[in-house]
Amino acid sequence: TYVVTDACIKCKYMDCVEVCPVDCFYEGENMLVINPSECIDCGVCEPECPAEAILPDTENGLEQWLELNAKYSAEW
Ligand code: SF4
Repeated sequence: TYVVTDACIKCKYMDCVEVCPVDCFYEGENMLVINPSECIDCGVCEPECPAEAILPDTENGLEQWLELNAKYSAEW
């Protein structure tokens, strides 16, 4: 899955939402999040994010962000 990280906080771009083929972006408290169980790992959103806030969960140190993405997207 892909993960939205802190660079997204208070970001107003919605480019990622528009390109996601499965509509798995959701509104968190002050940032967007990706639902890890819906994301199909296509990677389309990553280069579209002007804030470079979206990363694949294979990168190191993203545990807390992955948890937050799962938590906020589950509230919908
Ligand atoms: Fe959506 Fe693909 Fe990005 Fe996952 S990787 S959030 S499916 S655009």
